Amino acid sequence: MQYVLDFGIPSPLVIVHDRLTAHYGRDWPVSVRSDPIDHLVFAMTSSRTLGKVSVDAFCKLRAAFQPWDLMIKAPYEEVHTCIQNITYADTYANFIPAALRLIKEKEGRLSLDFLEEWTVPKAQAWLEMLPGVGPKISAYVLNTSRLHMPALIVDTHHWRVARHLGLITRETPFEKAASCFERQIPNTWTAKDREDHHFMIKQIGLDFCKDGHLRCPSCPLRNDCAYGKTTIAN
Ligand code: SF4
Repeated sequence: MQYVLDFGIPSPLVIVHDRLTAHYGRDWPVSVRSDPIDHLVFAMTSSRTLGKVSVDAFCKLRAAFQPWDLMIKAPYEEVHTCIQNITYADTYANFIPAALRLIKEKEGRLSLDFLEEWTVPKAQAWLEMLPGVGPKISAYVLNTSRLHMPALIVDTHHWRVARHLGLITRETPFEKAASCFERQIPNTWTAKDREDHHFMIKQIGLDFCKDGHLRCPSCPLRNDCAYGKTTIAN
C-alpha cells in the first residue's frame, strides 16, 4: 500500500518507504517493548558503540543494579566497570546514574510511564533535559519501549542515507533531520510505521550505503536516490 499526503501525492519519503518494504518485507522484527527505563539505559550505552558491545554493557548494568534505583547512588567505578568497553564510557558512567537520579527527583519514582499521556514533542523535550539525552535517545525510548509512541528515531546511518537520497539537503544538521522527515510523513503513519522506517533505512546504511563505501548498483533505492542516480549514470 502506498501512503499519500493530504493533497494526494506520495512524498519522496513515502516512496522510499514503500521501496524498502518491498525489499525487506513486512515481517520487520518488532522491538522488545519493555520498561522505558530499560530502553533509556540501553540507548545511553549505545551511543557510537557497536551493537554487541552495548548489549554486553547493558546486561552487566542490569545484573549489577536491579532495581535500577540501586544505580542512583552507586560509586562511579562500579558503573564504569560495567560499561568500560563502550565509547565515551567515562562520560556515561556519570550521565546514566545522573539521568536516573533526576527522573526520581522530579517524579518521585523511577518511572517514565507518565510520558504516555503527553504529545511526542513534549515528551521528547522532557527527556532531553536529562544529562546525555538528545533527540536520538529520546525518540528511541518513546518509540521502541512499551510506550510505543509515534516518535521517529534518526541515527547517523539514517541521516547519511537520507542526505544521499535527497530526502533532506546535504546541509541539514543531524539535530534538525527528524523534524524535516516529520513534515514528509503522512498523518496516518503509526508508531510501528515510524519504527519500521527507521530500522529499514538504517539497514540500507549497513548493507549498501556505508560511509566511504557505497554499493549503488546493487542498492534497492538506486532509482529513488539523487546521489545514486548520478553515480550509476556516470
Ligand atoms: S543508491 Fe547509493 S547513495 Fe543512494 S542510498 Fe543506495 S547506496 Fe546510498
